[in-house]
Amino acid sequence: MRTSEEVVIDVDGLRMRYGAADVLRDVTFQARRGEVLALLGPNGAGKTTTIEILEGFRMRSAGRVEVLGTDPAHGDEHWRARLGIVLQSWRDHGKWRVRELLAHQGSYYAGHSTERIARPWDGDELIAAVGLTEHADKQVRMLSGGQRRRLDVAIGMVGRPEMLFLDEPTAGFDPQARREFHELILGLAAAGQTTILLTTHDLPEAEKLADRILILDQGRIVADGSAKELAEQIVGEGEVRWTLNGRRHVRSTQDPTRFVFDLFETHGEAISNLEVRPSSLEDTYLSLVHRAESGLGDTADASARKEAV
Ligand code: ADP
Repeated sequence: MRTSEEVVIDVDGLRMRYGAADVLRDVTFQARRGEVLALLGPNGAGKTTTIEILEGFRMRSAGRVEVLGTDPAHGDEHWRARLGIVLQSWRDHGKWRVRELLAHQGSYYAGHSTERIARPWDGDELIAAVGLTEHADKQVRMLSGGQRRRLDVAIGMVGRPEMLFLDEPTAGFDPQARREFHELILGLAAAGQTTILLTTHDLPEAEKLADRILILDQGRIVADGSAKELAEQIVGEGEVRWTLNGRRHVRSTQDPTRFVFDLFETHGEAISNLEVRPSSLEDTYLSLVHRAESGLGDTADASARKEAV
C-alpha cells in the first residue's frame, strides 16, 4: 500500500463562523501520508473555507487543526515551504515564459529543504512531468486553459511539497486535458510521498483519483470513505438493463438480484443483453446529500441533536 500510517492532516471539531452564520460545524477527519482525498459537496458547503484554514490562509473559530504536525494558524515559512497550493483562480503571470516562471518559483524553496525533500524540482524535469516540454519557452498568456492549469499544478509542485492542495483543478478542462491531468496526479500519488487534498464537482474525477472521498454539506461531513464504501451506504441499489422482444429496458431497483430472478422466471430465454450496474458515485452522492439535508443522515442527525441540547 502506498499510504503510510503517519497522519498528515488532523482536523478535530473544526468550526467556522462568519458573523451569525455557522459555515463549518464540527468537521473532523484525518489524512495519512500519500493519501489522495477528494472533498465534495454542493456550492456553499464549506469546501474552500476548509481548505483555506488548512493552508493557513483563514483563522478558524474553534477546533483543533494540524497539517504536517503544525497548527496552520501558526505555520512559519519553513512549514509553508512543505505545502503546495493550487488555487481556484489563475494568477496573472502572462508575460513570463513557462521555464522562467518555474525557475523563479523554485528558487523560493531552495533555502527550505527538509530532511524528506532534498531539493526543488529541476525545471525541465518538472515541465516534462506536467507535459509542457513543447511549451517551455512560450509566454504563459499563449497557453491554452488546460496548459495553464498544468502550469498551476507545476507551480504547486515545484518545491516537492509533502502536502498538495488543489482547489477545483480541472474546472473548464476538455476531456483530453482532463485525462492528461488525471495521469499527472495519479503519477504523483503513486510515488507515495505527497498527500493530496482536492476539491471537485466532477464525481468521476473524485472516483478515479481519490483513495477517500469526504462529502461536506452545510458545513458538516456527511460521508467519509472510498467510493465503494460510500456506495455500500446506499444499500443494495442498482440499475438493471435488458433487452426483450427487441426493446431495451432500464430499471433502478433496491434488490437487483431479486429483480433479475423474477425477470428470468417471467420471460426466460427471451431476455438478452442483461446488465446489472451498481449505483454510481453520482447516485450515491445525490442520495447522501439529500439524506443529510432532509435530516435523515446519521451525522446530520447526531449533530442536530447535540445542538438542540
Ligand atoms: P464551497 O467552497 O463549498 O462552495 P465556501 O467555503 O466558499 O463553500 O463557503 C461556505 C459558506 O461560507 C458560504 O455560505 C459562503 O457564502 C460563506 N462565506 C465564505 N467566505 C465568507 C466570508 N469571508 N464572509 C462571510 N461568509 C463567507
